[in-house]
Amino acid sequence: MGSYENAKNLIVETARQLTNKGYLMATGGNLSVRIAGQQVFAITPSNYDYLKMLPDDICVLDFKLNSLEGTRKASVESGMHAAIYKARPDVNAVIHTHQVYASALTLIRTPIPALFDEQTRFLGRSVKIIPYAPSGTGMLANTISRHIGDHNNAYMMQNHGALVFGNDMERAVHNVEILEKCSLAYLLALCTERKVSGIPLIVRELAFASLRKDQKKAEAGDF
Ligand SMILES: [Zn+2]
Repeated sequence: MGSYENAKNLIVETARQLTNKGYLMATGGNLSVRIAGQQVFAITPSNYDYLKMLPDDICVLDFKLNSLEGTRKASVESGMHAAIYKARPDVNAVIHTHQVYASALTLIRTPIPALFDEQTRFLGRSVKIIPYAPSGTGMLANTISRHIGDHNNAYMMQNHGALVFGNDMERAVHNVEILEKCSLAYLLALCTERKVSGIPLIVRELAFASLRKDQKKAEAGDF
């Protein structure tokens, strides 16, 4: 058994779960998990069906994108994942999807303000739009790392999809689900053309303070 076996199993199981729930489609999107205490992460391979994926198909890379284990080509977004782990020591799992409702909001470049308590508790103060950069490029990785210093755990990538973080993989999966629920509710509310109300500022700030507390614990390795 390879030393990265737990991470590989976790990615395979999570990819299957996200595909069955409709958040990942065919080969679109990618997900990764940080290997604790090392500058290393495990990530899905490039262009490979999630439902056929086995632990041996998962790639293990260091932050310079050198391959440590795995024979398949790693996701083209590996550079983006490495940039996130470097910029955000609190993040231990990253999920990038092309989930439909969040993607729709990126087309009209509409960020999600603080609408629900659970949204601010787990995703942050708002879900911002990160400006467009072509998939699989260093430009995309640079653009992403410039925009994630505000400690939010979910972002939308213009004309592309969603980017969601967690202090562990289970949290990241729940955050994907919260983001899609918020995106759909917000789109429906916008369709009415009536004024959309947000939650009170004080509630948003208290919820965000709890999220920051979790992030600081994760940075210290307490999770
Ligand atoms: Zn993508």
